[in-house]
Amino acid sequence: MIFNSILLERAYLQTRKSVPPNFGAKMKLRRRNALDKAYRLLQANPFIHYENGKMLLLSESKTKTGEAKFYETRSDECRLIEPGGFLCHAFWEGFPCWHRAAFEIVENYFEIIEESNLKNAAQTVSAVNSSVAVVNSKTARQPPV
Ligand SMILES: [Zn+2]
Repeated sequence: MIFNSILLERAYLQTRKSVPPNFGAKMKLRRRNALDKAYRLLQANPFIHYENGKMLLLSESKTKTGEAKFYETRSDECRLIEPGGFLCHAFWEGFPCWHRAAFEIVENYFEIIEESNLKNAAQTVSAVNSSVAVVNSKTARQPPV
């Protein structure tokens, strides 16, 4: 997946602003580090696949035997699915991980795109309406035949 870099940065900054209210200083720092890593890796355009609130992503780390690691992450869980099927270590311990940080950034990215599409649609409608108004006023000024 190729991201628009401007929108991706906006999504990253927006995600950084939302901190769970129960987070203390150490958790905030861990979250910040997870988000920074996620943002860096999303910019580098790794393999991700997002569908219906689930995201599959390729980790930059490998297994001891050199195999690629795929994580499946969603809002309430993060799991190493290949190889294995174990919960993500950080998630298991209750810490922010970069997988879920990436998931949050990508969800915000899609929200931003959706909002900008709605704005564009609204502008199109008002442009059409104003041109109709111009046509009507020209028609109104024409002398009666
Ligand atoms: Zn994780």
